[in-house]
Amino acid sequence: MTPPRSVLIVGGGIAGLAAALRLRDTLGDAADITVVERADRLGGKLATGEFAGSPIETGAETFLVRRPEAVRLVERVGLTDRLRHPAAVSAGLVVDGRLIDMPRGTMMGIPADATGVADVVGEAALARIAAEPDTGRPLLGPGEDISVGHLVRDRLGDEITDRLVDPLLGGVYAGRADDLSLEVAIPALAKAARTHTRLTDAVASLLPPPSTAAPAPVFGTLEGGLSTLVEAVAEASAADIRLGLPVRRLERWNTGWRAEIGSTRDPYHLTADAVVLALPARPAARLLTDVDEAAAELVGELDYASLGLVSLAIPDADLPERSGFLVPATEGMTIKAATFFTKKWPHLDGGNPLSIMRASIGRYGDTEALRRDDGALVDITHRELARVLGDDLPRPVAASVRRWGGALPQYRPGHRERMIRARERLAGQPIALAGAAFDGVGIPACIASGEAAAERLREDRP
Ligand SMILES: Cc1cc2nc3c(=O)[nH]c(=O)nc-3n(C[C@H](O)[C@H](O)[C@H](O)COP(=O)(O)OP(=O)(O)OC[C@H]3O[C@@H](n4cnc5c(N)ncnc54)[C@H](O)[C@@H]3O)c2cc1C
Repeated sequence: MTPPRSVLIVGGGIAGLAAALRLRDTLGDAADITVVERADRLGGKLATGEFAGSPIETGAETFLVRRPEAVRLVERVGLTDRLRHPAAVSAGLVVDGRLIDMPRGTMMGIPADATGVADVVGEAALARIAAEPDTGRPLLGPGEDISVGHLVRDRLGDEITDRLVDPLLGGVYAGRADDLSLEVAIPALAKAARTHTRLTDAVASLLPPPSTAAPAPVFGTLEGGLSTLVEAVAEASAADIRLGLPVRRLERWNTGWRAEIGSTRDPYHLTADAVVLALPARPAARLLTDVDEAAAELVGELDYASLGLVSLAIPDADLPERSGFLVPATEGMTIKAATFFTKKWPHLDGGNPLSIMRASIGRYGDTEALRRDDGALVDITHRELARVLGDDLPRPVAASVRRWGGALPQYRPGHRERMIRARERLAGQPIALAGAAFDGVGIPACIASGEAAAERLREDRP
C-alpha cells in the first residue's frame, strides 16, 4: 500500500479541515494537500461574526466536550487556553406558555421514570411512564432502526414525545422526533434498546449515577469564537487553501482523480492521488455521479432543514438565570429555541451592558416562517421572547438575521446502513466521505469523520 502523495479535500468545513490536518500529521511535510472551498471563507457551519461589540456565533455555537474529538483538536492546534465552558445555569422549557425548568434525569427528553417530568405532562402520561410494560423482547432487533418518535410514542405516549423529546431533538436538528433515526440521533440509546425490554430501563442504564460533586462541563467553546478553531486547524494543516471555488466534476484520472474547479465558463483542473469529499449530501452526490451512480443515489437521499437565527441586543433586560429555553411545536410559537448568550457564556458577559440573545426559527417541513423578511423575523422574535420573559422586555438596540438554507441533515431511519452501503460501493477507490452528511451532525462527530477519512486514505489505498 502506498500512501497518497497528493490529496484533494473538497469542502472547507470542520470535517474537511480535520481531514487536512490528520493527513498532514500522518503523511508529513512533503504531502501535497489542497482544500477547495466554494464559499469565500473556511468553516462552513462554523461562522463567528461580530455583533453588538462581541464575537457571536452566527452558526454552530458550542461543541460537546464529553466526546474527546473537539477538545483533542483544540489541544492539537494550541488553543487550550482559550477553551471556555458555559455558566452553571440550565435551560428552560416552555410548557403551556410558562417557562419551567428543563427536567433532569432524561436522555434527549426521554425519562427513566416519571418523577422528573411531573411539570411537563399530565397525570395520565405520568402513570403510563411509571407503568411501562415489559415487551419481553428487546425494543430494537439486530440491525433495526426506527424513528425516535416511533419508539417513544409507542412506549411512553404522545405527550412526552411532543412536549419534551421533540423540542430537544428540534434544538439540535430543527427536525421532528417522528422522522429522525434513533441510531444516528441517540446512538447510545439505540444500542441499549437492543438489549433492554423497557424504554425507561434502557434510559436508566445510560444515565450517570446521582452525585453531589459539581458536574463536569458538557459543552465548550473558544474565546474569540469557533472561527478561531477553523483558522488554527487550517494553518496547522499547511494545506493549499483555495476559496471561492466550487468543485463541479470529479473523474478518475490514471490511478487518482481529476477535478473540474471554478466557474463553468472558465474552469481549471486539478489532479490528485486521493480525494476527500467533505460536503453536504447534494453536492457530494453530484460529484459522485460519475464515480458510482448507486453511491451517489444513496448519499443524495438525505434531506436538510433550513433555519433562521435572529440575534438581538437588548439593554436593561431582566433575564431569568437560565441559558435559554426550548419551545415545543405544540406551543404554536414561531421561535423554537432561544439562547441567552451573555447569561450562558461568562466570557461574553464581561462588561457588556447589553443582553445578547439568539432565537432560532424553522422546523423541518415548515418553511413558511422563513419566507418572511428580516424585519418581520426580528419583530416576531421580540414579541415571542416578551411573551415568555415578560411584556416589559425592552426593544432591541441591534438585531441581525442569519439564514441557513439546507442547514441541518434530517437522518431518516436506516441512514447509517445507507452510508455503509455507499462506502462499500466506493471501496477500493482512493476516495473517502466525511462530515455531517454521513456520520452525524455534532462538531465532534464531524471532526471524527474527517479524521477517519484521512486514516482510510492512508491505510486502505489500493
Ligand atoms: C445554525 C447551526 C447551528 C449549529 N449548532 C451546532 C452546535 O452548537 N454544536 C454542534 O456540535 N453542531 C452544531 N451544528 C452542526 C455543525 O455545525 C455541523 O454539522 C458541522 O459544522 C458540519 O461540518 P461539515 O464540515 O460536515 O460541513 P459544512 O460545515 O457544511 O462544510 C461543508 C463545506 O463544503 C462547501 N461546499 C459545498 N459544495 C461545494 C463544492 N461543490 N465545492 C467546494 N466546496 C463546497 C460548503 O461551502 C461548506 O463550507 C449547527 C449547524 C447549524 C447550521
